[in-house]
Amino acid sequence: MRDLSNLLDGLRCSECLSENTLWLDLAAGLVECRECGQGALFDPDHEGDDL
Ligand SMILES: [Zn+2]
Repeated sequence: MRDLSNLLDGLRCSECLSENTLWLDLAAGLVECRECGQGALFDPDHEGDDL
């Protein structure tokens, strides 16, 4: 079974402001910070949406 978690390189956690601690869980479709455990739904539809 493949590991479906990817490190989001270069991103910063909005809670603890640590860099390179955010992991994208593809299976659950959410992002979680390894440092503070902050989780957020990953919403790719909003990226590049009409401004
Ligand atoms: Zn954090």
